[in-house]
Amino acid sequence: MTAYELRAQHEPADPVGRSTTRWHILRHGAFVAMCGYRIDPVADTRPIADVEAIDPECRCPECWEWWAAVEQVWAEGSPREPEP
Ligand SMILES: [Zn+2]
Repeated sequence: MTAYELRAQHEPADPVGRSTTRWHILRHGAFVAMCGYRIDPVADTRPIADVEAIDPECRCPECWEWWAAVEQVWAEGSPREPEP
């Protein structure tokens, strides 16, 4: 379960800083999310354990859909994961 992480998609905030618009799911150390979005290397990171804690409005629908499929497969006892 530690092979994945959550990474943020940011947009510049006014007047300074940045705001988080969406969270994506990635394999640990990867820079492309399961949905194909390319993550900024300096984007915020949260542990995959927080996957249920992310505000639904900030979840990437494709990434969460994929994650649900992974949990389904694991629940069935398979160590494999579906392809994104
Ligand atoms: Zn995504």
